[in-house]
Amino acid sequence: MSDTIERVKCLIIGSGPAGYTAAIYAARANMKPVLYQGSQPGGQLTTTNEVENFPGYPDGVTGPEMMMQLQKQAERFETDVRNGWITKVDFSGDIHKVWVNDEKEIHCDTVIISTGASAKYLGLDSEQKYLKLGGGVSACAVCDGFFYRNQEVVIVGAGDSACEEAHYLSKLCKKVTMLVRRDEFRASKIMAERVKNTENIEILYNTETDEVLGDGQVVTGVRVFNNQTNEKHEIPATGFFVAIGHKPNTDIFKDYLDLDETGYIINAKPGTSKTNVEGVFVSGDAADHVYRQAITAAGTGCMAALDAERYLAAKDANFEVSTSTYN
Ligand code: NDP
Repeated sequence: MSDTIERVKCLIIGSGPAGYTAAIYAARANMKPVLYQGSQPGGQLTTTNEVENFPGYPDGVTGPEMMMQLQKQAERFETDVRNGWITKVDFSGDIHKVWVNDEKEIHCDTVIISTGASAKYLGLDSEQKYLKLGGGVSACAVCDGFFYRNQEVVIVGAGDSACEEAHYLSKLCKKVTMLVRRDEFRASKIMAERVKNTENIEILYNTETDEVLGDGQVVTGVRVFNNQTNEKHEIPATGFFVAIGHKPNTDIFKDYLDLDETGYIINAKPGTSKTNVEGVFVSGDAADHVYRQAITAAGTGCMAALDAERYLAAKDANFEVSTSTYN
């Protein structure tokens, strides 16, 4: 254990669009934010190839490039961006305590949680290989569907997300094959009916993925098996979408913050970034199971910094509210 305890005005946990946007606003409001990047600096976007739907990039931008630019912008206003993983918190007192890598202890006036969520994957070697290569595996149809216009794709999953994404893809792609591992959907009836009634979506029940096939660079198909008969067959496809759920990265907060049954942080006051603990705010996918977009994460990052600034101003008459954030 380190024996020096650092005191910070605003600690931001996470380095996706939510965390960096919170940092830009907090830094410009004189809150001297310290941002810990976590285990995946840049967040989920660093696993995305091309981002075409973030306003301000008419020619698109790669996920890693966009995250580097966001970091640079946060650092331009003197955000202290650090490597490190927050392993423990104690939000029981007025001062919020966090520990970095189980060692360094920091006392914070405000904390902005931007830890995001992680898409679940099947875990097959071939899936991970093409995911890392950016060669046709994706967990976000809204982000990547456009690249598969008029092509044939496969999507795994049978929940509301899978149905929503399959329907989205059906409007762009020639054909969508949906792999459902049981003989029924988990999704709400209305969402399941919608995919069942879409002409270019073929649903294969009791069907699981055996292997994602490719040429070493990009996906060319998927070998599937029927889990009742063990029969295998190959489906030609250029895209393999995984929609089997997300896991919010909120485990370390569960003793202090209100979470829903999946682990998403519940906003204490809808329409704000406030949690049930005063001075602790949340932004991005850690509290959002509905939109999950870079732009919505960035928007809530801005909200969290403004809420934190107002909280500090109300608490400490000497804290100068910067008008720059409202320009
Ligand atoms: P869910 O947990 O609801 O569904 C996950 C799906 O993935 C299930 O059908 C599950 O199969 C399947 N699955 C899990 N692991 C595997 C695997 N290894 N191989 C194959 N299939 C697998 O997650 P969602 O992301 O769909 O939804 C999360 C929450 O968000 C839900 O409450 C949902 O209602 C909500 N939501 C609402 C929307 C809306 O209303 N517009 C849109 C999107 C989400 P099985 O059924 O066999 O377990």
